[in-house]
Amino acid sequence: MGRADRAEFLLEKLRERIDRPTTELEYETPYQLLVAVILSAQCTDDRVNEATPVLFEAYPTVGDLAEATPDDIYPFIQSITFPNNKSSYLAKMARQVVEKFDGRIPDTIDGLETLMGVGRKTARVVAQVAHDADALPVDTHVFRVANRIGLVTKGATTPKKVEQQLKRVIPKEDWGEAHHLLILHGRYTCTARSPDCHDCPLPEVCTHYDRLQNRPDPIDGLDASAGTYYCTTSEHYFDDPDTHVDRYDLEQVACPHCGSMQVVRTSTGQPTKQVKDYRVNG
Ligand code: SF4
Repeated sequence: MGRADRAEFLLEKLRERIDRPTTELEYETPYQLLVAVILSAQCTDDRVNEATPVLFEAYPTVGDLAEATPDDIYPFIQSITFPNNKSSYLAKMARQVVEKFDGRIPDTIDGLETLMGVGRKTARVVAQVAHDADALPVDTHVFRVANRIGLVTKGATTPKKVEQQLKRVIPKEDWGEAHHLLILHGRYTCTARSPDCHDCPLPEVCTHYDRLQNRPDPIDGLDASAGTYYCTTSEHYFDDPDTHVDRYDLEQVACPHCGSMQVVRTSTGQPTKQVKDYRVNG
């Protein structure tokens, strides 16, 4: 199945499961959305939603926030990741909006990207959610799910490349919806640490699932006292493995004698072969 067909199948299946493909950040105005998205960088939406009501009560408009110093803002967001940096971003961003945009949150990606604390992804999320702009922002969930399923090629190693490739296989009118469907699928089903493939509607088109199924079965009856590893190609035990980089750029345990990566751990009989899972750390 080609990538465009895979994308079409994915959208159809995820639409059936996800009723409201939209942001889980709570906001009422573009100002509140922008603040919430800045705060959500490397932080959960739940934690942001717990902090923002009190922050918005203290600073109801961007003009009010522009009067605040980072020290004023810090206590409201200290439960959020990187509160020092984010207090500073919010104070500077608000002043920029007042001074350069007459107190109105910019409604274009280019305008948003000029603001402090607003990078490529944040600008696109705000423009897409608040102004229905043609954008397909790629966050950690979209990046992981797109790679795992095989919506993008092996060369899509950055969020920008993933975004460009997704835009080629997903119709423009579906970009915004696809962004939210992929995020929610990644957040609740295809999670970073343990994707719930048994409760997923996509195994038949998912390349990650396919690779997991093709891992060798565990082997019984190995003699752990004969060596830490056993090479199933040349059928012998050893303790000090080599490493080889496979075609997915993953470093794999390899046999020091024949170079095979068909190596199992003798204590468990489990294959040492890893399947790339596109987890984004940090
Ligand atoms: S089959 Fe598994 S890895 Fe593939 S999309 Fe579903 S949960 Fe993710």
